[in-house]
Amino acid sequence: MAKKNNGYNRTCSFCGRDIPSDQFIIGGFDAMICSDCLQAAMDIYHQHTADTQKKEISDIKLKLLKPKEIKERLDDYVIGQEEAKKVLSVAVYNHYKRLMQGVDETDPDVDIEKSNVLLIGETGTGKTLLAKTIANLLEVPFCIADATVFTQAGYVGEDVESILSRLLQAADYDVKAAERGIVFIDEIDKIARKGSENPSITRDVSGEGVQQSLLKLLEGSIVNVPPQGGRKHPEQEFIQVNTRHILFIGSGAFNNLSNIICDRMNTHAIGYNTKNINFNPQEALKYVSAQDIKDFGLIPELCGRFPVITSLNALDSVALKRILTEPKNALVKQYVALFKMDGIALSFTEESLDYIVDKAVELQLGARGLRAIVEKIMTDAMFEFPSLNKKKIVVDKDYAQEKFESSIFSFKDK
Ligand code: ADP
Repeated sequence: MAKKNNGYNRTCSFCGRDIPSDQFIIGGFDAMICSDCLQAAMDIYHQHTADTQKKEISDIKLKLLKPKEIKERLDDYVIGQEEAKKVLSVAVYNHYKRLMQGVDETDPDVDIEKSNVLLIGETGTGKTLLAKTIANLLEVPFCIADATVFTQAGYVGEDVESILSRLLQAADYDVKAAERGIVFIDEIDKIARKGSENPSITRDVSGEGVQQSLLKLLEGSIVNVPPQGGRKHPEQEFIQVNTRHILFIGSGAFNNLSNIICDRMNTHAIGYNTKNINFNPQEALKYVSAQDIKDFGLIPELCGRFPVITSLNALDSVALKRILTEPKNALVKQYVALFKMDGIALSFTEESLDYIVDKAVELQLGARGLRAIVEKIMTDAMFEFPSLNKKKIVVDKDYAQEKFESSIFSFKDK
């Protein structure tokens, strides 16, 4: 029951005590809270948020695989690229360990640096696949952003903050989940300063502006993110996202980087001893350092935000053939599954697979081209077979060649 004291209600709505007029009390629309109850409420609130945070961390811990386990899982999907898989597994493991720092038993005085990763390698070597697979197995939100669409703030084009809108979308607008997600920034090499060897003449100011904007995101700050039609926040203009624990994976082909590395290693000749390592310029990317990336045209601060740099090899025919058949979702396995749904047993001869690989190499399409080639070879069969009463198809080299080179329907059914 509310009581009056000097015309004011001084009864705490929580503990029911009458509060003397010289003591602190907060009045609401139809309620009052005394300082003791306020303190108790704050204690309960802090305990609750600490418990929630601990639970979230232990959830992550449950999912956090050891580097070797991460690498083994990557092996199921990504062929070759052993060094990149190893480096990435360690970086990701450390990143999520860092996330637990302070809440866990780790030493709070040691500030573990964020291990954003830079993946360098020709297009179609598996950079995106690596990042996607990591995000899948950690069950964290993942998004891909193309660095070439970004412009310096104030110019026409996408602001870098839109990267986080995509991450939020991937997290179904769960800000906390997004804040532990992975962002893959593709073609990061394309925003390098042009002609960086002589910046005073051909300095690409806008390229540098985009790099500066990216820097803010990468260095761990609270960013105002436009929700971009987010259905859960239509009324809200911006959502605040803390990028401190977001793992950024930059990726690019970095054409000509090998020359920069060779220059640094002081050689253009083929395979001989430099100072203390047996340096083979064909494999120059293996020796990439932050200095080389800087010389390529990324600003030093941005290079500094990618403490982990690793390279992916160009895929040779042996790797391409393995990609066709070995990964869990290998192309050949996918087509076999498709035909199986129609009760048809599909198989490819070794020679037909070699033919597909040869075409991908000849046309310089790499792994990315494999699907297009197989699709071309299999389209007629996919069109005709479901209506025919055939239970088996063997794709041999002749069939593959004929289908690839023409669109005449011909196959060997045995
Ligand atoms: P990148 O990002 O390096 O340009 P992607 O990861 O997008 O290349 O690769 C394109 C496609 O090629 C992938 O979807 C995948 O099917 C295949 N691929 C490329 N590299 C590999 C690899 N090392 N192992 C398995 N598949 C690969």
